[in-house]
Amino acid sequence: MLDFNHRPSMAERINELIDAALIAEREATPPRTYLGASRLGHACERALQFEFAGAPKDEGADFNGQTLRIFAIGHQLEDLAIRWLRAAGIDLVTQERDGGQFGFSVAGGRIRGHVDGIIADVPAALGIRVPALWECKTMNAKNWRVCVKDGVTVSKPVYAAQIAIYQAYMEPSAPGISATPALFTAINKDTAQLHHELVPFDADLAQRMSDRAVRILQATDAGELLPRIAQARDFFECRFCSYADRCWEQLA
Ligand code: SF4
Repeated sequence: MLDFNHRPSMAERINELIDAALIAEREATPPRTYLGASRLGHACERALQFEFAGAPKDEGADFNGQTLRIFAIGHQLEDLAIRWLRAAGIDLVTQERDGGQFGFSVAGGRIRGHVDGIIADVPAALGIRVPALWECKTMNAKNWRVCVKDGVTVSKPVYAAQIAIYQAYMEPSAPGISATPALFTAINKDTAQLHHELVPFDADLAQRMSDRAVRILQATDAGELLPRIAQARDFFECRFCSYADRCWEQLA
């Protein structure tokens, strides 16, 4: 039941102000005009197409303040991981010489990706071949444990797809990077435990993701909507999709 007499506490008011500021910051950020390669492993091509085309999300599906704070904390933790790996003697390069973030831009800038880092040198005892792509993610304890048990390829196929396509697309600027396994680091946000694993280049996966990107660009250019992933709206992916209303109101 709604409590019309509820007066927000001081803490609630502070949080409302923080969230309003974060949401305003996000709204002031120009929308992406490209297909983010990190997203290509998403289960549904139509959802990726909506993202790429900048379709407005369903009402209430925009990121709220708490989600934006979760993202921001994740970024800060990734910065810490960079520091920790360097402290371990790993030469991890995270910026271009001019200070810009590493990344790639293909298909006339319509597909882009930003790379967490490239490992240029490591203590010999670690047995890591270089140059190696470095990708870092933060996870809650439950997801982290599954990732440690099953590996990133099985537990987080979206991340595996990202790694494969990044290795492929970074090859021109970092020759040899697709011939060496990537290093994947997962930070347990609850316990600060770290997981590291080597991920060999999966050329087939990279090709499938690249083909997928082309399909999305071509369909969007042609004004065609790619097929849904499911026959019914109560499918798992659709229940968590930010475009479900838009998607299921379409005729196709
Ligand atoms: S609602 Fe389902 S089918 Fe439609 S875009 Fe989202 S995930 Fe894909």
